[in-house]
Amino acid sequence: MRLLIFGPPGAGKGTVAKEVTAAEGLPHISTGDMLRAAVAAGSELGAKVKGVMEAGGLVSDELIIDVVEDRLQQGDTAGGWLLDGFPRTLPQAEALDALLQKLAQRVDLVIVIEVADATIVDRLAGRRVCLACGATYHATFSPTKAEGVCDACGEAKVVQREDDKPDTVLSRLATYHEKTKPLIEYYERQGLTQSFDNSGAPAATVAAVRAALAAR
Ligand code: AMP
Repeated sequence: MRLLIFGPPGAGKGTVAKEVTAAEGLPHISTGDMLRAAVAAGSELGAKVKGVMEAGGLVSDELIIDVVEDRLQQGDTAGGWLLDGFPRTLPQAEALDALLQKLAQRVDLVIVIEVADATIVDRLAGRRVCLACGATYHATFSPTKAEGVCDACGEAKVVQREDDKPDTVLSRLATYHEKTKPLIEYYERQGLTQSFDNSGAPAATVAAVRAALAAR
């Protein structure tokens, strides 16, 4: 099964993606996680993208397309995948189409996660993330047991993402509405999208997504 997932930053897209892929046995390919790992590792790629990411902008199509093309040709992707955070622009969607055509594959479902913007700003103000393993927490609703220390991996690397600060969140939402929403329409025209409201508990959304996959 080959899945895409869309949703504004902070809609809970990452959580839904993680749980759906764990349950379905698919690799969860998050371009944001890959880029953050590159920044944390201080790699050449990380140095190129750090400034743009911190400012809430999008890294260049050329660069991210290279990253995804490499990733989708690794062995663990043969049985399917869920792409999270890609494509984000029309040129990225066209590059993905071209790659899938070359690999004789196609996208089966485009999952669209929906949550109102005001709810998102509130949620992201409290979001904390572990820079070591990617686990996420919420300062109020699901805090770490010890301040700043990850419950999952034990590293003292749980922080607020630079791009989760309110000003940056507003700019990321504007970017989403401007550049990414037209992509949903691109996939709607192909009859591939299905929307899921995630204003409530992610577990209910995960169950709804799995039911939709089972019904296909
Ligand atoms: P995310 O975790 O998906 O919100 O991604 C975090 C940041 O990584 C974004 O704000 C962008 O700066 C960058 N990024 C991730 N995926 C892409 C993409 N497909 N195209 C351009 N930039 C991306």
